[in-house]
Amino acid sequence: MDNSVSYEEFSDRAQGILSRIAAECRACGRDAATVKLMAVTKTHGAWAAQYAERFGLAFVGENRVQEAEAKRTTRPGDPGIRWELIGSLQTNKAKAATVLFDRVQSVDSAKLARELDKRAGQAGRVLPILLQVNAGRDPAKHGVEIEEAPAVLEAILSLPNLKAEGLMTIAPLSEDKAVASRTFAALRTLRDELSALFGAALPELSMGMSGDMSEAVREGSTIVRIGTALFGART
Ligand SMILES: *Cc1c(COP(=O)(O)O)cnc(C)c1O
Repeated sequence: MDNSVSYEEFSDRAQGILSRIAAECRACGRDAATVKLMAVTKTHGAWAAQYAERFGLAFVGENRVQEAEAKRTTRPGDPGIRWELIGSLQTNKAKAATVLFDRVQSVDSAKLARELDKRAGQAGRVLPILLQVNAGRDPAKHGVEIEEAPAVLEAILSLPNLKAEGLMTIAPLSEDKAVASRTFAALRTLRDELSALFGAALPELSMGMSGDMSEAVREGSTIVRIGTALFGART
């Protein structure tokens, strides 16, 4: 958890990533303002989120409830950078997640959605969520299968205390960049289909990490989740 990156170095890296996003957007005719940079701060100390906030990023991503609980000093609704959950969530941690996170990107079952809805209701809030989809059909990844997505989203849309804002995916690890591109295109296509099917906006496509952010931006990502390229390798 040591602070091995100076703020100046972080800032240079973040500028570099924003420039890459802007260049990809120019190349495919997108407006760079439609792509948001999320700093993934997992395994790093609270300093990492402080850097992201000082730089002016909108949100950080964490993949474990307990770790975020130990680092976050604000709560949803407070001023300051937003915190989002991007790692898989057990139903027995749903209550803690609802109190701690501004948005949960890793909703991957109707059962979890119902639990989050119940807990959000108890906390008196509407919880924004993304549906995590295994768009790359990766046996090692969480997320609903593409075929299950309509039924799970339908269940989510019936829950009064959840607000579905879009889809999230993690591409399979591969040397072949085409695998990531296909995965991201599949997520975008699914979003378009679900949007038409349910008349729901689903504006957010959370896709792209340090190794595949260019592919993700070209396929329509609105949130790239970047850890290593900002903070260095996790130990
Ligand atoms: C760790 C993680 C990231 C960031 O990965 P990097 O390769 O370090 O950029 C993005 N998304 C999820 C869901 C993660 O768990």
